[in-house]
Amino acid sequence: MTVDMTDPNYRSPISPGLSWYESSCGPRPQYPSLDGDSNCDVVVIGGGFCGLSAALELARNGTDVVLIDAHRFGDGASGRNGGQMGSGQRAEVGELEKAVGNSRAKALWDMAEDAKRELLDTAKREKFDTDYQPGQLTPMHRARFEAEAREEVDHLRTHYGYDAIEWLDREKMAAHLGSNHYFGGTRDTGTGHIHPLKYVIGLAKAAARAGARIFEDTPALSIKVEGKIVVTTSTGTITAQRGLVALNGHHNDLMRDVARHVMPIQSFIGSTVPLGDNSPVLPGGEAVDDSRFVVRYFRKTADNRLLFGGREAYGRSTPGDIERTIRRQIAEIYPDLAKVELTHAWGGNVAITMPRLPYVRELKPGLWTAGGFSGHGVMLSNHTGRLIARRFLGQSDQIKLLQELKIPAFPGGTLLRHPLKTLALTWYAMLDRI
Ligand SMILES: Cc1cc2nc3c(=O)[nH]c(=O)nc-3n(C[C@H](O)[C@H](O)[C@H](O)COP(=O)(O)OP(=O)(O)OC[C@H]3O[C@@H](n4cnc5c(N)ncnc54)[C@H](O)[C@@H]3O)c2cc1C
Repeated sequence: MTVDMTDPNYRSPISPGLSWYESSCGPRPQYPSLDGDSNCDVVVIGGGFCGLSAALELARNGTDVVLIDAHRFGDGASGRNGGQMGSGQRAEVGELEKAVGNSRAKALWDMAEDAKRELLDTAKREKFDTDYQPGQLTPMHRARFEAEAREEVDHLRTHYGYDAIEWLDREKMAAHLGSNHYFGGTRDTGTGHIHPLKYVIGLAKAAARAGARIFEDTPALSIKVEGKIVVTTSTGTITAQRGLVALNGHHNDLMRDVARHVMPIQSFIGSTVPLGDNSPVLPGGEAVDDSRFVVRYFRKTADNRLLFGGREAYGRSTPGDIERTIRRQIAEIYPDLAKVELTHAWGGNVAITMPRLPYVRELKPGLWTAGGFSGHGVMLSNHTGRLIARRFLGQSDQIKLLQELKIPAFPGGTLLRHPLKTLALTWYAMLDRI
């Protein structure tokens, strides 16, 4: 073991700032790093939601699985996100119907419904706490978006049989938000939000209990397919029949081809001190993600803090920068909170694709990858891991639906795309303001 991850001064080396989740998750086990060579049926690289869910599903079905993570489980996006489950895919149903046709769009919606259900069922079955709270609001930040959002509600109710979603006019939305900053929008009672790091910790414990061999502080240095899959680390090799690379936005050095399709974008969150029982903020406890392209997302935690995410940045950011911007964004919506104390400010890599749908491929026979969940990975990355595991187990080929999605490479290759990304996202952030 080379790094003491139980040290209170340990910080994720790949994501800025100490998260409120890290301060509120309670004691967590540290898993050993790999020492020596091993053989297994399946090797999983990456211990976020996707990799851990795959490992759990495989191990509980009797497969010999080894999982490695370069850092501590959850140090990537999975332990540090907004915790909002959402409904459907990140791309809206109208957009999807145009892109893949009505029946595939409906199948993708149904898959996301399974993802939601299985996310909560897994926690129940494995007996770990998630701080789940139901409800999600999507308020429009411009009146001109109202008509299209209302049509989406009607469409979902009529053609998808989804009646957990309703339209709220501006007045009702203001009552649910505790703010009149927005216009009307939707309320979805068929979804909710969780404490993502508790989920990561629960998954890792369940996977280990089921027999998966799981290792932290063990970066994969190379992956070769030579009949079998051989993963090299600095302290040993893993040889497996099949493999899953679940690195989300961190493929750059290991897998240049995947990195062309999946691009990391940083998103940031701040959390306040507890707001007190009489706070008018979000009296119904719903999570919020607004209509901006650079989405603002916020919710209250189980102990009544406002956890507010919004800023996206395209260079390096310090927790100080994050705090200043998040505080300004909170004050725009909740002016009474302009001076509220922020106890934590942190960020992470969201990882997006061009069509904002996941990139799932069998790269070489037996070697799979999944990533680019585009800000919609809480339920979908977990589910994708399970579906790839079920494919390995020969139980289901449902993963094909994601595998067949067309996900073009970003223009500009892996070098030029970063300046292009900055340009494009600055443009979209400007459109959000008009
Ligand atoms: C600030 C923020 C807010 C978000 N909010 C939401 C939200 O509210 N709702 C939602 O649905 N989604 C949200 N997301 C997105 C969501 O968190 C991700 O889609 C999801 O967690 C991806 O999971 P993953 O397992 O694919 O990747 P990750 O959790 O990023 O895991 C990848 C793992 O790979 C490991 N790794 C990297 N390199 C190596 C290597 N060489 N060898 C071994 N391991 C390696 C990393 O340490 C990491 O643990 C948010 C993301 C961020 C950053």
